[in-house]
Amino acid sequence: MEGFDFTFMLEFSREKRNVEHIASVAKGLTAVTIVSTATYASTTSGNVYRLTARRRSPVLKAGRATFGRVCAAMVVIGFSGAVGNTPLIELRELSRELGRRVLAKAEFLNPGGSVKDRAARGIVDDAEACGALQPAGTIVEGTAGNTGIALALVASERGYKSVFVVPDDQSREKINLLQVYGSDVRVVPAVPFTDPENYYHVARRIAKETATAFWANQFENTANRRAHETTTGPEIWEQTGGSIDAFVASAGTGGTIAGVATALKTRRSDILTVLCDPMGSALYNYVNNGELTTEGESDLEGIGIKRITANFEAAPIDRAIRVTDGQAIAMAHWLLEHEGIFVGGSSGLNVVGAAKVAGDLPTGSTVVTILCDGGGRYVSRMFDDAWMRENNFAKQQALPAILGRG
Ligand code: PMP
Repeated sequence: MEGFDFTFMLEFSREKRNVEHIASVAKGLTAVTIVSTATYASTTSGNVYRLTARRRSPVLKAGRATFGRVCAAMVVIGFSGAVGNTPLIELRELSRELGRRVLAKAEFLNPGGSVKDRAARGIVDDAEACGALQPAGTIVEGTAGNTGIALALVASERGYKSVFVVPDDQSREKINLLQVYGSDVRVVPAVPFTDPENYYHVARRIAKETATAFWANQFENTANRRAHETTTGPEIWEQTGGSIDAFVASAGTGGTIAGVATALKTRRSDILTVLCDPMGSALYNYVNNGELTTEGESDLEGIGIKRITANFEAAPIDRAIRVTDGQAIAMAHWLLEHEGIFVGGSSGLNVVGAAKVAGDLPTGSTVVTILCDGGGRYVSRMFDDAWMRENNFAKQQALPAILGRG
């Protein structure tokens, strides 16, 4: 049978069942062909089974499990334990419109609300292991917001202090959260990287001058990339049952795209990996023709970079595409209206990129992307009508217009 493989878990709460029985019930429920069934784990309430199934249509009709419980996760320990294992959401309306499956890794559902929870946990674990971060020490970082938010929460969980340097062009919501979380927040003017007052250099200086400080250095510290190579990438592989044709993402530090692309290419080298880059970032030209040059500018937060970081360097990326702020913001509104998914501008940009790549692949292909953070962090900006008007963005657009096919 032609179709798509997907993997899910079922927990049977009462009697023990044999795998054939579970497969037959699951088949009846979702109109799929079961490819494999295995006992995954035993819990106090029953047994959990892991099933890989195949279905013909790119869109799965929602079914209701009356015989067991579809379970995504077991008990986890603390904030750090709750990071990762996020759902991979099929964007149903978008997939239906495109005739290709677009799956989005819901990183906004991490406990700190963004993809950076993984990097923060990985960086702190690594610093503890190598002795760079001592008990009751201070974590220092320059951050567009999400990394700081994630590090602040790991710091509370593990008894560290935190100092964050944030450029003043980031949303008020993110800066407020850092203050609520009890961090020492230093807001500095947004100036180019070449200026010694750029937030990155200020953070490095503060770390140097502070006793017991550890500078997280998310751009150059490759524990960031490794966190995605060892968690995000393998999760995507597992959740798709290896049935994935392309992975598309933007880059802020490059940790997500480099780590996931490495994990996927190691498992199957013909998976297409595509960077989608905002205007004003040099990576688009770098990936396509080796030149670090830029055109235009972008208001999107957390993505786009003009230099090659250690995390991005040598990432196995096949090509790059451009997505404008107008497209990204319109897509974030479209996702809210049509999919019930409330995410920020970088997620909108990623979904535009994924849809464009999907459109160039054969019908029925599967493209995976990342939903980096939630829309609540941008209520005073892209979800504010006055801000949208002042910045000349249109929120109501049909899909072909958003994708530049209007
Ligand atoms: N989107 C948002 C909103 C972010 O804050 C970041 C991190 N700066 C990214 C995307 C990109 O993630 P990465 O740093 O792993 O490239």
